[in-house]
Amino acid sequence: MRRAAVIVIGAGPAGCAAATVLAEAGHDVLLVDRPAGSRRALAESIPPSAKRLLVELGMDRAVAAAGFQPWTGNSVWWADAPPRVETFTPDATGYQVERNRFDAVLRDVAIAAGAQRLPGVVRDVDLPSVTIDANGEVAQVTAPWVLDCSGRAGVIARKGLRMSEPSHRTVALAGIWRATMPWPPEKEGHTLVASHADGWAWSVPVASGLRYVTLMVDPERSHLTRGASALDLYRAELDKVAPFAPWLEHALLEDGPWGADASLYGASQHAGPGFLLVGDAAAFIDPLSSFGVKKALASGWLAGVVVHTLLIAPEMQAAALSFFEARERAIASSFRQQAARYAVDAGEGHPFWEARASVPEGGRVFRPGEFAGPEGPASIDTALLARDPDVLSA
Ligand SMILES: Cc1cc2nc3c(=O)[nH]c(=O)nc-3n(C[C@H](O)[C@H](O)[C@H](O)COP(=O)(O)OP(=O)(O)OC[C@H]3O[C@@H](n4cnc5c(N)ncnc54)[C@H](O)[C@@H]3O)c2cc1C
Repeated sequence: MRRAAVIVIGAGPAGCAAATVLAEAGHDVLLVDRPAGSRRALAESIPPSAKRLLVELGMDRAVAAAGFQPWTGNSVWWADAPPRVETFTPDATGYQVERNRFDAVLRDVAIAAGAQRLPGVVRDVDLPSVTIDANGEVAQVTAPWVLDCSGRAGVIARKGLRMSEPSHRTVALAGIWRATMPWPPEKEGHTLVASHADGWAWSVPVASGLRYVTLMVDPERSHLTRGASALDLYRAELDKVAPFAPWLEHALLEDGPWGADASLYGASQHAGPGFLLVGDAAAFIDPLSSFGVKKALASGWLAGVVVHTLLIAPEMQAAALSFFEARERAIASSFRQQAARYAVDAGEGHPFWEARASVPEGGRVFRPGEFAGPEGPASIDTALLARDPDVLSA
């Protein structure tokens, strides 16, 4: 049976970040990478502020060299508010990425740092042992630390730690559109976001004249479960997004639609003896924030630092795990509260938004303004954070 110092399950942003940090620190890291197969990937916006993390992880040059479309700003139509156009300065753009290509870039960085990639699917975890189906061959590997970076699949998280929110089931329906007449050049790199009474929509450009247009629908409130074809449903939902009409009038649906689960969830526990839940394996935040990848990279970085500490100073276990638990819990909670605020702004009285305008926490349901947990990211005092002993020790 093979042994490793750390097994990382999943080679998304969280897994690649953790594997890179740990491999660079000289540990024997096994990165289990599920082959993409026929699964469809979405296009996503990576915010300018994520670049600092990419630098910290040594991934910035590889991402910059991959030639992704720059994210140059946002055009937003939210509820009854006047349309908002926000254009980033040229030195502060983000990236518009096709996720399968983006993840491949991050994975190459992790491998270059020394992580060993094993293409395969984790079938079971019985700590410290992990069962991997690698191209039809079953392998057993053990490690003192196993990181669940498997995203929504939650290989370890689903063993009783996942907390789903039944009132918050959302499906993303995605399609790829090609312009038959050029879109306004000044908005070529803009993410478009629009809300309506029954959901919201957003569009991410990935190349000149090519955009993903994704619609967020509640399967309980749409006809998703009642036999309508995905294409009919997609077109019916798209008709509700009036601000996108001028963009799509001269464009053709080139691919799709296909669906992806976008329901929110959290975790009752983020770490324990022998394991950590990292990135989306622990908590899925509202995609409206466009912070999912950044949160996953940060979570992977933190997990790498914590597990490095655990490997070189096992006597620190209790302190290191409770540090990780507290940080991850606070971040998930603040994003969860932010999502509820978006819902309040989007439309009181509409069932889709009403169901999303409250936060279940500690057995109670809070409305915005009543939250007991930490405040949202906007209110974080970075000067205070820079003096925080926990941050300094990390
Ligand atoms: C509709 C939608 C829109 C979004 N838009 C944005 C956006 O614009 N910007 C943004 O920053 N974020 C966005 N997000 C969020 C973002 O996709 C996630 O937060 C991010 O991918 C989390 O990274 P991760 O590494 O934790 O998980 P993932 O990216 O899900 O990676 C998990 C990895 O684990 C692998 N895996 C799963 N099971 C196994 C197994 N059994 N064995 C081995 N490997 C396994 C998977 O194949 C995958 O490679 C969006 C999400 C959705 C659903």
